[in-house]
Amino acid sequence: MTTIADRLSLAQQRIVQAAQISSRNPSEIKLLAVSKTKPASDIQAAYDAGQRLFGENYVQEGVQKITDLTSPCPNIEWHFIGPLQSNKSRPVAEHFDWLHTLDREKLAIRLNEQRPAELAPLNVLIQVNISDEESKSGVKPEDITALADAVCRLPRLRLRGLMAIPAPTDDKERAQTELANMQRLFKSLQQSHGTLGQIDTLSMGMSGDLELAIDNGSTLVRVGSAIFGERDYSR
Ligand SMILES: *Cc1c(COP(=O)(O)O)cnc(C)c1O
Repeated sequence: MTTIADRLSLAQQRIVQAAQISSRNPSEIKLLAVSKTKPASDIQAAYDAGQRLFGENYVQEGVQKITDLTSPCPNIEWHFIGPLQSNKSRPVAEHFDWLHTLDREKLAIRLNEQRPAELAPLNVLIQVNISDEESKSGVKPEDITALADAVCRLPRLRLRGLMAIPAPTDDKERAQTELANMQRLFKSLQQSHGTLGQIDTLSMGMSGDLELAIDNGSTLVRVGSAIFGERDYSR
C-alpha cells in the first residue's frame, strides 16, 4: 500500500527531476499540497511527513480544517485556491495566509478591510484567464496591471505574483503556449511592480502537468490527487 508520505515523497522527486531537466534550482519551486475534500487526518499525515503548505478550495471546509489543525499542526501556511464570492471574503481574510484567486478590485478592497490588524498582510496572487474561455475566472492579461496597481495601494494585502489554471487539454502544444504566456506575463509584472513589493510567485502546475509548468518558470505547483489520491465529491 502506498501511503500519503510515499506519494508526497514521489511528488517532491518529480519536482526535483523536472527542475534539473529545466536547469532550474529545485529550491525555487514550492510544493502546495491541495487537500480539498480530504479529511484533517490526511493533512496530519502529510504534515508529519514534513509538508507545511496546504491549499483549500472551499471557505467553510477550509476554515474548519484550519481551526481543527492549528494546535496539533503548528506553522502550516494555508492557501485559499478556490473561486471566492465577495460575501465569503471575511473568513478567508481572517484565517488564510494566501489567496491565489484574486480577480477583481472589489474583492481586494473587502479583503483589505477585513484582514485583522494582528496578522501579517494577506499574500495575494492575481488569477489570470490564460485560456481565454468565457466560462473561466481570472482577469484578462491586459487587465493585470490595473488590478496590480489597486492591490499595491492596499496596505493589508501583499501582491506576490500570478496564478493560472489552464483549461484541460490533450493538446501539448497549446498547453505549452499558455504556460509560456504566463511566464512572460509574470516577468512583465516583476518589471512593472517589483519595486513596489516582492513579486516572487508564479502558481501553476498540478498533478498532471507539473513538469511542463516547471519548465515554464512555475515557482509553486499545486498538487492534490498525486499526494492524497483521487477525490470523492459524492460525500
Ligand atoms: C484541485 C485543484 C488542484 C489540484 O489538482 P490535482 O489535479 O488533484 O493535482 C490545483 N489547483 C486548483 C486551483 C485546484 O482546484
